[in-house]
Amino acid sequence: MPQQIKNIAILGSTGSIGTQALEVIEANPALFYASVLTAQSNVDLLIEQALKFKPKVAVIGDENKYQILKEALKNTSIEAKSGMASLCEVVALPEIEIVLTALVGFAGLKPTIAAIKAGKHIALANKETLVVAGELITDLAKQHHVNILPVDSEHSAIFQCLTGELDVIEKIYLTASGGPFRGKNIKFLSEVTKHQALKHPNWVMGAKITIDSSTLMNKGLEVIEAKWLFNLDVKQIDVIVHPQSIIHSIVQFEDGSMKAQMGLPDMKLPIQYALAYPNRLKNDFKRFNFLDYPALTFEQADTKTFRNLALAFDALEKAGNMPCIVNAANEVVVAEFLNEQIGFLQMSEVIETCMAKLDFIKEPSLEDYFESDKQTRIFAKQLVTNI
Ligand code: NAD
Ligand code: MG
Repeated sequence: MPQQIKNIAILGSTGSIGTQALEVIEANPALFYASVLTAQSNVDLLIEQALKFKPKVAVIGDENKYQILKEALKNTSIEAKSGMASLCEVVALPEIEIVLTALVGFAGLKPTIAAIKAGKHIALANKETLVVAGELITDLAKQHHVNILPVDSEHSAIFQCLTGELDVIEKIYLTASGGPFRGKNIKFLSEVTKHQALKHPNWVMGAKITIDSSTLMNKGLEVIEAKWLFNLDVKQIDVIVHPQSIIHSIVQFEDGSMKAQMGLPDMKLPIQYALAYPNRLKNDFKRFNFLDYPALTFEQADTKTFRNLALAFDALEKAGNMPCIVNAANEVVVAEFLNEQIGFLQMSEVIETCMAKLDFIKEPSLEDYFESDKQTRIFAKQLVTNI
């Protein structure tokens, strides 16, 4: 039976995930149509993408760039919009079936909620949304009967391993590359620059997640993301460093059997899987060759040196608004590290102080999350200024 075309809204189409999603869409014009494209500030690329993919609407977050977008699209049928309110509006357009959340950080929360409330399936790249408000988001998704389809490679791996399984998970292993500083000590880390931190060994990604990978906060955020996606207890989630990034993650079932999903590191595969779910699509991506990788290796994550991973586990155990505090503090310190205002190790110090000092809320409401996010950013910025 011929499949119907899926209309997709891409939030963050100019980023690393967004541009790769457009490659997947371009390769499958009979299956996918990008109805909505959005970007925060890169208006030139957004215009180029809009002229090529002819969405129904293009949204620029930065209101100062709205006129440029509007002018460039004036002789087309593409509508130009701007601002966060527009993001929340366009995800709810009736023809949209899936919203790919490929934007960075806490900014993903509001439009993801709007999309779920409008009954849209979510292809979730924006892990921060689940870190901040995992319980609220997964409850809302259940209530509105929408799927949250993971795009993060580890979570896509787990999701693929669970396909066809009815039995209970004993535990999962999230694999981690270890980042560019695997094996390095505190002295080395005290002197590393942002340029060193931005060189990931296996993946090319946006700046924020690349820094998160170098501090192991990315894996910490992924542990929290996995808890909510797969309804697990903290004790069922383990992290194993696997420097080759070939095994993308592993599920261990109650009979001890383990299933792993593997392949070359290429985000287009998990993106395509989420968009095409429940189908698999043929493609010409490079195939894995065992002989190119005679050894796949595994080691323990060094959480004494890379404190952020331990802090994320702590936050998950404390629950409530603690993961929201960690996320906000982390967004601040990553930005300040990229602005060369603080050193690599100070990132964990600021996050830890925020966790200790900010008000803990056991059962936060949506408003509490917004307030916690705001207060944490103010406090973290003060801490940075005092360094
Ligand atoms: P990126 O920085 O390359 O792109 C981010 C996109 O979001 C851009 O289009 C930007 O214009 C938009 N954006 C940024 N801030 C925004 C805001 N405040 N409001 C609206 N739009 C905004 O980031 P990325 O690497 O593509 O990552 C996107 C998300 O996917 C992140 O949550 C990241 O953790 C996750 N992720 C990325 C990868 C990867 O390989 N890049 C892998 C797994 C998960
Ligand atoms: Mg990942």
